[in-house]
Amino acid sequence: MSEAIMYDFIGIGIGPFNLSLAALTEDMSDLNGIFFDQSETFQWHPGLLIEGTDLQVPFIADLVSFADPTNRFSYLNYLHINKRLNHFYFLNKMSVPRKEYNDYLQWVASQITQLHFGKEVIDVIDENNHYKVIVRDISTQIDEEYLAKHIVMATGGTPLILDNMANYPQEDILHASNYLYKKEKIIDADHITIVGSGQSAAEIFHDLLDERKNKEFHLSWITRSEGIFQLESAKLGQEFFSLDYVDYFHHLPIEKRKDALNTLGPLRNGVDYDTLIGIYKLLYHYSIGGEDPQIFIQPLTEVKSLEETTDGYFLECHQWQAEKSFQLKTEKVIFATGYKPNIPDWFEKRFHGKIEWEDKHLFKVSRNYALSFKDQRKHRFYVATNLEHSHGTAATNLGLAVQRNMEIINDLTNEQRFDLSGSFIFQNFIPSN
Ligand SMILES: Cc1cc2nc3c(=O)[nH]c(=O)nc-3n(C[C@H](O)[C@H](O)[C@H](O)COP(=O)(O)OP(=O)(O)OC[C@H]3O[C@@H](n4cnc5c(N)ncnc54)[C@H](O)[C@@H]3O)c2cc1C
Repeated sequence: MSEAIMYDFIGIGIGPFNLSLAALTEDMSDLNGIFFDQSETFQWHPGLLIEGTDLQVPFIADLVSFADPTNRFSYLNYLHINKRLNHFYFLNKMSVPRKEYNDYLQWVASQITQLHFGKEVIDVIDENNHYKVIVRDISTQIDEEYLAKHIVMATGGTPLILDNMANYPQEDILHASNYLYKKEKIIDADHITIVGSGQSAAEIFHDLLDERKNKEFHLSWITRSEGIFQLESAKLGQEFFSLDYVDYFHHLPIEKRKDALNTLGPLRNGVDYDTLIGIYKLLYHYSIGGEDPQIFIQPLTEVKSLEETTDGYFLECHQWQAEKSFQLKTEKVIFATGYKPNIPDWFEKRFHGKIEWEDKHLFKVSRNYALSFKDQRKHRFYVATNLEHSHGTAATNLGLAVQRNMEIINDLTNEQRFDLSGSFIFQNFIPSN
């Protein structure tokens, strides 16, 4: 059993959100935090680090630059220390290769002392004026107890899958998050189908289409969405990923916030320009001289269920606009159908009755990202997952995550350690008086 130190805060989960908090607080000697993650080592979406893909935000959205560009954990310093600054300069791009972003995060993680991997948080108990956190060591299965004044839960998302999908072998029917682990087996098939219309679906389609230079297989791409469209990139549209918009959004009534999320769809869902161009170019080249590009692409089509046959699977599909159902025979299916917030089981058990809810599934969160407890309390429970309904479309944006951590640190320390006053963008969302 560990010694009962009272930490200022405990971070649950070490993805980019809490890693940024760890990097920003590492040199703050008066703020004693500790972080746990169930994974053995730091990995950022390893199943989707597809060769040639880039982060969808500029490098300034690293773990610290929005708070302090001179921080030693900045991406520029990572390049400098690793002697890649000249390469990046001549590359002359704002975006970071996904693989390099992961390498950068691992470089930061390796330097921070308070990160503990292979440790699953299996319970958080609300005690008088602090929390008791039970942590299970994955390799020894031994439980340890830690105490903290505050909690910061950043547990990310879990893959969204069809109801009966888990019953089939992962080599055949898988979620996009496992793509690279299964790719070698997948490309031996004669027919592969991708379901979904977001960035991951498009990147996998592109990657497999590219593999067709070396191997013969049929590729299908179906999605329930109205089309495979480009992600909105207008600069004034991008300003919705700002603290100004978070301020505006958070004050709206819940129904207005839900409506706003729907209308902001093009900013949240879609595929980036380069990926779409890359796909179209390959399709064009594969069809030169009347060649059959061996593809089937159909939007407006929902996969209702799947059924195993002797040599593959039948997908029961429904084109919902034309109201036509059909079967698609395929050998492998990759569901790029997104993620849902990962809320650990203990959370429901320990906290459901103690906090306020906006509806059945959506907890109430203060502007400073703390849960709204029914009682008055000083020990806060911050959340960095399941925030779309409270803080808007930017809840999962990497750049805004740093600004969120600046706000959390200000709140934790009860000081303005980071200056967040004034406006950060050109437009208003509401008249200022
Ligand atoms: C493939 C992909 C690409 C993306 N690209 C971009 C992009 O380009 N730009 C952008 O702005 N956003 C992007 N996002 C969205 C978002 O920024 C990322 O998902 C980001 O990883 C979220 O960070 P996080 O720290 O909340 O969660 P995660 O990175 O998911 O990390 C959560 C961590 O919590 C741990 N955990 C969960 N439960 C427990 C527990 N009980 N105990 C201990 N540990 C636990 C998990 O092991 C995990 O390591 C992308 C998302 C995906 C899926």
